[in-house]
Amino acid sequence: MKYTVLTIFPEITDAYFSASIMARAVKAGFVEYRSINIRDFAFDKHKKTDDAPYGGGAGMLMLPEPLGLALEAAGVSKKTCPETMRQSPVRKVPGKKVIYLSPSGRPFTQKTAEELVQNEELILICGRYEGIDQRIIDLYVDEEVSIGDYVLSSGEAAALVLIDSTYRLLDRVISAESLREESFAGGLLEYPQYTRPEVYDTIKVPEVLLSGHHENIRRWRLQKRLEKTFALRQELIRRGEEAGLFDTETIKMIEEMRKNHERDQGN
Ligand code: SAM
Repeated sequence: MKYTVLTIFPEITDAYFSASIMARAVKAGFVEYRSINIRDFAFDKHKKTDDAPYGGGAGMLMLPEPLGLALEAAGVSKKTCPETMRQSPVRKVPGKKVIYLSPSGRPFTQKTAEELVQNEELILICGRYEGIDQRIIDLYVDEEVSIGDYVLSSGEAAALVLIDSTYRLLDRVISAESLREESFAGGLLEYPQYTRPEVYDTIKVPEVLLSGHHENIRRWRLQKRLEKTFALRQELIRRGEEAGLFDTETIKMIEEMRKNHERDQGN
């Protein structure tokens, strides 16, 4: 999988690709990365990439020309003919997606990560200031993605969230077992985890985890996943039920938990 990041601060995203698991994934050839500095495509001698918005208002906006040229340098052609604003016949490149990180975008979830990792290349536009000129979105962007209902000062942090949550889903980057049991997998949050020492600040690791009894440990973990999800994110359980994500054992445990909850409420 390839990530191309368009930014005026490539040093922010470059650093991420040179450390830890990501550095290993790059070295092993599972991930390819390039950053394109939008400033390299600025025309004037000050390498200006922003200007005031038409119609007035606070802040500056990223200029469309340097960004358009940076996109073309990344191998992206216009998706829309500028004259007619209709879909361009030359655009559709399968497996390649141009994403603008933006608070107006589609909310990003684990499901979005699973979907986006199917692409061969993600081309990520990092906004700054008040964002980018609408014409870049109309002409080049396939999708706007938001990492949450809050406003960051820059798209680089958002791009790194998207990159971090997608590349780890690639085959062989981390173990399939880790992915299977973590939060959101199968529609539930993760169970509580413990490591050495056995007693920390008077709190002892649950006995079942020391028992070596695999079946009991599996059931305990499922029970804890359900209890945690039920307590913190009930809507995940409802969504999981609607999507038919749970097996018979899990459904029985949910029913039991609901019964206990109703009984406790009644008291
Ligand atoms: N004026 C914009 C608005 O109100 O929607 C906010 C611009 S923000 C200060 C600068 C850049 O940060 C944006 O262009 C975008 O790339 C990035 N950004 C901010 N919040 C984001 C979010 N929730 N998700 C993704 N990107 C975000």
